[in-house]
Amino acid sequence: MGREIIVNGIALHANATPCFHHCRYCQLRSYKTSGVSFDRYSALVERFVVWRDRHRPDFEIWPWFGNSDDHDDATWQGIRRLDEMQNRTSTIALLGGVAHRSIDEMQRWLEKRQRLGVETIAATFSGHDEKHDYWNHMPGNYRFQLETLRLAKDMGFLLQQRVLRLRDSLLSLERLFDDLDDTVGVGHQRWALPLFYSGVARHLEHESWPRKFGQ
Ligand code: SF4
Repeated sequence: MGREIIVNGIALHANATPCFHHCRYCQLRSYKTSGVSFDRYSALVERFVVWRDRHRPDFEIWPWFGNSDDHDDATWQGIRRLDEMQNRTSTIALLGGVAHRSIDEMQRWLEKRQRLGVETIAATFSGHDEKHDYWNHMPGNYRFQLETLRLAKDMGFLLQQRVLRLRDSLLSLERLFDDLDDTVGVGHQRWALPLFYSGVARHLEHESWPRKFGQ
């Protein structure tokens, strides 16, 4: 018996903003960028928007321009414009993949995002200090993220701390939480994230947490 398939939306991804990290748990298969320009990508999304507005107003379009949020100003503004065409605005910026900069440069980086309506800064941690830097594959990233969170908090951002569930860093989490408590205090979000075994992380199933500790 034949079945009808109804397509209700499309996600349009382009990985053209460099990610400056090389996480050992990355869900992408490659860190390389595609080389597609934002203008070309934007034109593609807009074609779908025109088609939707004429034929299927219920059709959902999900643009995503990665691999990191370290976009130049024009790209940030363009992403915001594409989001507005979908009647939604993202108010979050991720520190994952952002190039290390001095504290003054990060202040300017954050000020620009604040002017564009970003309200929340999110950082993912894969353990405490060296453990995080090992998995993130970028020396000094642990300190960079903590310092940026502290700065962002002082500038009035909400903070979102994401903690990856890796067996290897389990014993270091208490020290990570102490550092995060000291840095951000109360009133901010803290998530625990399972690993997704895709891309570079496809061989990491042994890093999943046991069902019961002690196993
Ligand atoms: S920051 Fe994100 S995109 Fe970049 S390597 Fe890490 S997980 Fe992959």
